[in-house]
This record gives sequence, C-alpha cells and structure tokens, in this order.
Amino acid sequence: MVARAQQQPEWSSLDELKRVLHVLATSPQLVDASVCADLTGELARAAQGEAFVLQLGECAERFHDATPVEVLAKAGQLHALADDFAGISGLPVVRMGRIAGQYAKPRSSAMETLDDGTVLPVYRGDAVNAPDPTPEARRADPSRLLRAYHHAQTTLSTLFERDLGLLGHADPRRTYVGHEALLLEFEDALVRPLPDGPGVYGSSGHFLWIGERTRQPDHQHVQFASGIDNPVGVKVGPGATADELTALVRLLNPRRRPGRLSFIVRMGAAQAGRKLPALLGALGDAAADAVWICDPMHGNTKANGAGQKSRAVADILAEIEAFVAALRGHGLPPAGLMLETAHRPVTECVATPGDLALSVPLPCYESAVDPRLNPEQAQEVVEFTAGLL
Ligand code: PEP
Ligand code: MN
Repeated sequence: MVARAQQQPEWSSLDELKRVLHVLATSPQLVDASVCADLTGELARAAQGEAFVLQLGECAERFHDATPVEVLAKAGQLHALADDFAGISGLPVVRMGRIAGQYAKPRSSAMETLDDGTVLPVYRGDAVNAPDPTPEARRADPSRLLRAYHHAQTTLSTLFERDLGLLGHADPRRTYVGHEALLLEFEDALVRPLPDGPGVYGSSGHFLWIGERTRQPDHQHVQFASGIDNPVGVKVGPGATADELTALVRLLNPRRRPGRLSFIVRMGAAQAGRKLPALLGALGDAAADAVWICDPMHGNTKANGAGQKSRAVADILAEIEAFVAALRGHGLPPAGLMLETAHRPVTECVATPGDLALSVPLPCYESAVDPRLNPEQAQEVVEFTAGLL
C-alpha cells in the first residue's frame, strides 16, 4: 500500500507539474552533501552539551525577499544573536536559518472564507500560490516550484559569499540552512546520490524537518526523511505520544547516529512543564538518540482581540524555561532553539498574555502566516535562553 501524504497541494495542471519536476530532477543540487554531514556533526556536539543550535528565520519566506539586502540583513541578525548567545553562555553556536527554502506551509484548513463571504483555497506558501485574495493568486501553480528552486539558489549564493568573505570555507560559524520538507514532489526531485555513496541526500537544504501535521510514522513524509542522509528534524506538539516518538526514533535513526535526528518540541507554555517530562520519562534511554530543540513559538499562537494571530513573549520565555528544566531533569542537555524572527521592527508578537486581549489591531503586522519576534524581542528571548545554560 502506498503511504499517505498530508498537506499536499492540488496542483492546477499535472502535465505542467511533470515538466517542472523533470527540470528540477536534472538541475544542480542546491547544497552539498559534505556540508550536510558537517551539520550532523555539529548537531551531535549540541546533543552532548558542547554547542547550541540557534535557528532563526521566517515562518514563510517570500520570493520577493530573496534579494541580497534582505538575505544579508537576516544573516546579520542570526550571527549577531549567535555571537550574543555565545558570549553569555560560553557555548559555540551552530547557526541555522529557516531560509533558502522555507516556501511551503501546512495549514489547518484547505479553504479560507473572506470577510465578504468569498471562499478561496488557502495560501500555502510562495512555492504553491500567492496570498492575494483572488482565485488566480490562490491557484496551486506548479511553475512556482521552479521559482522556489531559483530563489533558494540566489539566497544560498548570497549566504555563501558572505560566509566565505567573513569566515573562510570550513568555519563552523558558517550559515546552515533548513526548511520544512513539506512538498514531497519538490523534495523528491532534489534527492541526489551521495558523492562517496552508497545512499542519497536531500539537496534542497542542509537540515530538513517534518512538521507537526505531517509526522505520522506510517505516512510519506517520515518515509522520505528515513531515506535521506541529511540531519532531519521532527516537530513534537502536545498531542505526541511516547509510542509515536519511539517509532520515529526507530524509523529515522535506526543506526543511532549522533546528530541525525532532532526533536523540535513545541508544546506551548501551558503544557510543556507537564507533557515533556512525561514523554522523556516514557522514552527513557531512547531520548538520548535525538537532539532536543525548543520551538517556543508554535504552541503559543493565539488570536488577539482584533483577530490577528499573535504570541506573548512571556509565554515564549515560560516554555523555554520548562523545556530546559525537563531536559535537565532527564539528564540531557537542551540543544537548541528555533524562533520565527523578523529583522524589521514589526509588531506581531506582544509582551504579555494581557496584551493579547487588546482589540486595537497591531499596527505593523507584515507576516504572511505566523507572528514573528522583532529584533528587540528576539534579543530578549535569545539572551534569556543563554542565561539559563
Ligand atoms: C512552522 O514551523 O512554521 C510550523 C508550521 O510549525 P508546526 O509544524 O510545529 O506547526
Ligand atoms: Mn510558523
């Protein structure tokens, strides 16, 4: 039986999709296998408490932001906060962007009803459609997959040139890139043989993760991740069971390779303190076969009084504190932090849960999907976390 895949678009033309996938399958790799392998090594160090992973970036990257100015601003923010983190904690920081491929989004419903009652397919990220509220913009257009490839390529060359100028080629302070491996046709088309084989790797990004909505152990996203050599991640929400995580460890890290599998925990402040210790306890020694990273954003998303999606920094800090305590209680180091950030002074997240009750819309709200931390908020969260380590 063919395994099922959640969250795949209904493409507007299967002939066009086929043509696009052929072009992708015969295009150069976006990232090199050797750098993916280096990242596995860095993640293994983080799992030993000898380094810390900081992963920052957009919830949903936009094609029009793949300019050198935008990309360098994002890289500048990542590296400044990583230096800050290293200075406070004394730990080397593995620097990862949610960048150069974060173009596809899982959504809670397939359709969206506009204020005037019009029903449209939902925006699924620039690799699929556009956020503008028209039927044509929302069409799942296969040619967007080619644009995703080209924008990722442009972004990667900007990042690579920056790293080369600043650091030299093999410096561990280089920028690694990662995204949610959601669109399986795209990801499959970019699988390439390992140069010193046997085996294959996903050449769309160094770190590929599976989202909370697509991590079913018997579904296709897990099957895809099990077949590639990259370091892979899985989001772990409050509904995850110990049986599911045990199955994921067995499927995704059967040879118990250090750094191969990360669990990215996103429980929410209200649940993390109770659920994470219970899961770790049930996993027992198997918990040490994963790198434990905290995503304090996605369990803390709430609609504010004006109907916008927002998050309170106080909830984010509380979840990080619970995460660190749970890992330490199990004798494992907290290995990383994944945040959704903006390098501009947006007002998408607020300070406290009380601020979420305000019915005045947040004025500077630009995110196409989830609310991001502005630079000041991101610095507060990063410094708070570094202070706990
Ligand atoms: C995300 O990281 O933007 C996301 C959709 O997360 P999750 O799968 O944890 O909901
Ligand atoms: Mn998000």
